[in-house]
Amino acid sequence: MRNSEHTAFSDTFQRTMEDASVLSAVEGSLAKASEHGDLNAFLELFKDSATAQASAVDARIKAGTAGPLAGMVLSIKDNICYKGHRVGASSKILEGFKSLYSATVVDRLLAADAVIIGRTNCDEFAMGSSNENSAYGPVKNPLDPAKVPGGSSGGAAASVAAGIVHVALGSDTGGSIRQPASFTGTFGFKPTYGRVSRYGLIAFASSFDQIGPFTRSVKDMATVYTAIAGHDPNDGTTSRKPVDPVTLTHPGKLRIGYYKEGLERAGMDPEIVAHLRSTIERLKAEGHRVEPAEVPLLEHQVPTYYILATAEASSNLARFDGIHYGHRSKNANGVEETYRASRTEGFGAEVQRRILLGTFVLSAGYYDAYYGQAQRVRRMIRERTLRDLERFDLMLGPTCPTTAFAHGAVKDPVAMYLQDIFTVQANLAGTPAISVPSGTHSSGLPFGIQLMAAPFEESKLLAAAEHLF
Ligand code: GLN
Repeated sequence: MRNSEHTAFSDTFQRTMEDASVLSAVEGSLAKASEHGDLNAFLELFKDSATAQASAVDARIKAGTAGPLAGMVLSIKDNICYKGHRVGASSKILEGFKSLYSATVVDRLLAADAVIIGRTNCDEFAMGSSNENSAYGPVKNPLDPAKVPGGSSGGAAASVAAGIVHVALGSDTGGSIRQPASFTGTFGFKPTYGRVSRYGLIAFASSFDQIGPFTRSVKDMATVYTAIAGHDPNDGTTSRKPVDPVTLTHPGKLRIGYYKEGLERAGMDPEIVAHLRSTIERLKAEGHRVEPAEVPLLEHQVPTYYILATAEASSNLARFDGIHYGHRSKNANGVEETYRASRTEGFGAEVQRRILLGTFVLSAGYYDAYYGQAQRVRRMIRERTLRDLERFDLMLGPTCPTTAFAHGAVKDPVAMYLQDIFTVQANLAGTPAISVPSGTHSSGLPFGIQLMAAPFEESKLLAAAEHLF
C-alpha cells in the first residue's frame, strides 16, 4: 500500500462539506458500526451525544464558525473518559461506571468540532496484545475475522480499518497503538511521552502511557495530532515546549538507522524481513544515508518493561477496591473481605497476574533486585536510544515480528509479551514512534514498518511517514 491510495481527511472533509452534512456522515458511521457489530469493535455507540454534536457542528459550518475538525468522526478507546458517558477499560470491575469529567483529549477534539461516536473494546486495562483479554469478548480483525486485530487497542484499530470512523484514539504503553495498526493496515502513532495529555486516561503504567491516534492517512494523523498535542495544566507530565507545526513538507535526504535485529532475530517472518531489506535498498537508491544499528539491550527490553509496567500497574489499580468505583461484591462482609472479593470477581486473569507480579517486584527484599535494577536498565536503554537518535534522523525496523495471528493461537503469556519486542523501546525511552502500513504478506494480511525519532520530533517523523514510505 502506498500513501496515494489512502483517503486523506482533507478529502473526506471536502466531501462532507460539499455533498452532505456532518449529521448524515455521523448517521452513516453509526449505521456502519452496527452493520459491523460482529467485529465487537464497539462496546457502546454514543448515538444521542454524537447526533447532537453533529447537528451543532452543521449549524456552525453554516454560520462560518466551525472548528478545524468539523466533519471528522472518531471513536475513543474504553479507557478514555468522556463526561456523562460510560467508561470501563473493558473490565467488569468498572461495570456501570460513568465518567465525571472528560479527558483533555476529548475536550480538545469536541472544541475543534470533531464528533465522537462511541467507545471501543480493548484488552482489560490495556494489558495485552490481541484484545483477547477484554471482559466483553475478543475483537475480530476486519481484514480476516479469524485473526486478532492486535491489542490492546484492538477495537480502535478495527474501527478505523473497517472504515467506520476516520480516526480512533487509543493508548500505547508498550505498543498498544502500533502493533494493532500493523495488524490492521492502519497508521498508528505514539507521540513523545508528555506531548499529549493523559488527564482522563485510566492509568495503566504512568511513566509509559501515551494517548495517540489510528488513521488511514498521514494527513489525518497530522490534523488530529495537532488538535490534541500540547501542554495541559491538568497533567504535570506534559511538556511546556510549543508544538511544532506539522507541515508534511518533504524532509529531504535523511540519515536513517535500521535495526539489524529486525532482520536477523529468530521468529521474524521471512516475508517481513525481505520487505524491510528491499525498503532499505530503495531508500539508499533514493539518496538517503541508511546504516545498520543495534537495538540497545534488546533481550532486556521486554523483561525491563514488564517489571516496571506491572509495578506501576499494581499501584495504579489499587484504587479499584469495590468501594470507590464500579463492581462491589455482594458476598462480602467487612472492608477487608469487600476489597478481596470485589477485586477477585472484578479483575480478569491477566490483570490479576500483573498485579501479583507488580506487587512482588516492589516488595521489600525484592525491590532492589527487580524494580531498582529494571530502572537502571531502563535508563541505559533510554540513553543509548537517544544517542542513536543524535546520529540518525530516524530509526527504522519492523513494528512486529509477524502479521496478525489466529484467535487463541498464542496461549503462553510470555509468548504474548514477546509481541512487544520491537515496540517497548519507544515507551522505555519516551520517544515518538509510528507504525506505517507498508507491506502485504502472501497471506493477504498487512504489516507495518516502525519509524522512531528523537523526542518532540513528531513533525519530522510524520513528514518522513508521508513521503518515504
Ligand atoms: N502488549 C503490552 C502489554 O500487554 C502493551 C500494552 C499497551 O501498550 N497498553 O503490556
